[in-house]
Amino acid sequence: MSKEKILIVEDEREIADLVKDYLLDEGYEVFTAYDGEEGLSQYHRIKPDLVILDIMLPKVEGTEIARTIRSKSSIPIIMLSAKTKDIDKIISLGLGADDYMTKPFSPSELVARVKAHMRRYFLLSKPKLDDKEVIYQGRLTVHLNNYQVLLDDEVVYLSAREFEVLRLFVTNPNQVFSREQIFNLVWGFNEYGDINTVTVHIKKIREKIEKNPADPQMIKTVWGVGYKFVGEGS
Ligand code: CA
Repeated sequence: MSKEKILIVEDEREIADLVKDYLLDEGYEVFTAYDGEEGLSQYHRIKPDLVILDIMLPKVEGTEIARTIRSKSSIPIIMLSAKTKDIDKIISLGLGADDYMTKPFSPSELVARVKAHMRRYFLLSKPKLDDKEVIYQGRLTVHLNNYQVLLDDEVVYLSAREFEVLRLFVTNPNQVFSREQIFNLVWGFNEYGDINTVTVHIKKIREKIEKNPADPQMIKTVWGVGYKFVGEGS
């Protein structure tokens, strides 16, 4: 089995190199880029399985890199920030990052998160032969096992969380979920964030699957209650 590839984009070299050492010890193949431009070119060259991305970077900002990656891939993105308020900002921007860590952080905690995201990503992107679950809802085809979503046969790239929100909807058509329910079901009670994250994710999903995101036909807002997916089934 070839090694899983990780790209670290971080202009503070001591941090990048320290994290690299920890990840090399875990058997990953690790690449580093010390500015945003280099980060993007390495991303296209290496095609990593996971990216660790600092927010404040010279030349191209981390937020822009996250947007670029997420427009064409579902790989896990872990963002690093020097300030908690930046994390609030990136969550509200809905860049599709999977995780966030504030500096200073413990490298072993970061490694633990990398492992968890890798595990989840590979488990879900590897189709299980005995369990090919595919859901067809109108223009959408959702492959539950490998996180693949097609809209009129075109691939739609969603972050893992966006996929999990969409999966909740398509597997429970016409059922109304409150934002609290969605947050608890998809993020879990102990996760960082709050129910506003749900609103941001639904906005992003609508932008990707709805013809007119301002007048959604699939994920409808049920005023004062929450959301429901309009579809076939119970
Ligand atoms: Ca930085």
